[in-house]
Amino acid sequence: MSSIQVESPNVRYTDGFIESQYDYETTEVRKENGKLVATPKTTKYTFRVERKVPRVGMMLVGWGGNNGSTVTAATLANKLGLSWRTKDGTRHANYYGSITQASTICLGSGPDGDVYVPFHDLLPMVRPDDLVIDGWDISSENIADSMERAKVMDYDLQVQLKPHMERLRPRPSIYYPDFIAANQTDRADNVLPGYDKAEHLEKIRRDIRDFKVTSNLDKVIVLWTANTERFCDVRPGLNDTGDNLIQSIERSAAEISPSTIFAVASILEGCCYINGSPQNTFVPGVIDLAERERVYIAGDDFKSGQTKLKSVLVDFLVSAGIKPTSIVSYNHLGNNDGRNLSAPLQFRSKEISKSNVVDDMVASNGILYEPGEKPDHCVVIKYVPYVGDSKRAMDEYTSEIMMGGHNTIAIHNTCEDSLLASPIILDLVILAEMCQRIQFRVGEEQEFQNFNAVLSILSYLCKAPLVPRGTPLVNALFRQRACIENIFRACIGLPPQNHMMLEYKHE
Ligand code: NAD
Repeated sequence: MSSIQVESPNVRYTDGFIESQYDYETTEVRKENGKLVATPKTTKYTFRVERKVPRVGMMLVGWGGNNGSTVTAATLANKLGLSWRTKDGTRHANYYGSITQASTICLGSGPDGDVYVPFHDLLPMVRPDDLVIDGWDISSENIADSMERAKVMDYDLQVQLKPHMERLRPRPSIYYPDFIAANQTDRADNVLPGYDKAEHLEKIRRDIRDFKVTSNLDKVIVLWTANTERFCDVRPGLNDTGDNLIQSIERSAAEISPSTIFAVASILEGCCYINGSPQNTFVPGVIDLAERERVYIAGDDFKSGQTKLKSVLVDFLVSAGIKPTSIVSYNHLGNNDGRNLSAPLQFRSKEISKSNVVDDMVASNGILYEPGEKPDHCVVIKYVPYVGDSKRAMDEYTSEIMMGGHNTIAIHNTCEDSLLASPIILDLVILAEMCQRIQFRVGEEQEFQNFNAVLSILSYLCKAPLVPRGTPLVNALFRQRACIENIFRACIGLPPQNHMMLEYKHE
């Protein structure tokens, strides 16, 4: 249960729900006689949040990878309250990097000034320690050996975790060699036999059901953290509608990727599906199915390091009236993700995902940019085995400043990639689950509704956010964060965080 109690005539707590009456304030703009006319608009919403926190299972596709084994190890280490010794001293398990677990929000102000509370106290959210983890991998190694292979966790911690992790074994997975790099073949010793895609779909559905029953779960969320696949073709008749996609799976059409089969299996089991990699798993047929079955989908590609910074830095520059003209991003990394991305088609997926991340910020400023004008933007990724999971990212931002001047910012960033991705995986699952317990009614509507099946609220955690058709795409990090925070505040009848602080500006 949340430790925050709101006192307001607009908020009602029952045993099962928190219900809030909320005025959503927006500004409508229209063009009239060459002028822009802005009108404030208020829409009444009723939010209803289910208070009971369910028992949730997280199924990872690619469980034996660096991210999969690291997030499992980190969750266990936190749950067991482990500490371990390093040459720098004793370290304790934590969830740094997770907005739900390690960031705070300003609830309001009291006699002693602003009052900050943990983000996870805003609404009754699942705790990462309580997540039950399972998953699939084309590699048969148990998760303790996977953790050792990943070389991310300190040795002393690995020794402590090993007995808890060696009995965790990934389920056999779908492997169509054409979708990931050829250099992954030697890993694939845990694969479902044959190429009958309908049979594979059924098997994955059975796995989800089996996990739910044997682990006594209320719900399961499936998340792809397996290798980056190449993009698949999108063609009329193949995967453009839900029905066509199901038929294509039934006739084992070659262009249907493993990730799309996982997404379909998950949706048909009523489980939210999240894509942490850049490929186009969410072909129109998958989106169609998710909308029809009213199941949440979210993605694409974890926004962990370089892109997260880019979506802050370019937002800062453009909103400061400075004009970024060239952005060049180099990466080198030596983990299996880097190895897979060294193949051209898989690199191309990542390049596409990384390339549009500043578009909304650039388009927002018609003083700096002509319509359609964009900064040069180049992304390079190299595989350097020696650096392992410790990814290097080097970025150069060149901008035009006043009167033809130039400003060049160069940034060098080194850190373990999987330790950035793991808290994002937890946030994605925790926030997606939370959204499943939020419903709302607009105006005088009788029926409560859910969010659109494409869960764009999770954009903060995604490099190339998927949004419902025809809706604006936001990449700017703090706008994305404010979206989650303010919607959650609305659920308990609190106004959005507006930073006006008028109460401190009186004479
Ligand atoms: P990894 O190569 O260590 O792990 C991927 C795992 O997926 C491997 O164990 C592999 O055997 C398995 N796999 C491949 N195809 C599979 C299939 N069809 N079914 C089940 N398992 C399969 O990579 P990682 O570092 O853990 O990254 C995972 C994914 O997350 C990559 O696609 C990467 O691009 C993406 N990603 C990572 C970060 C980050 O910061 N670590 C950020 C954004 C995106």
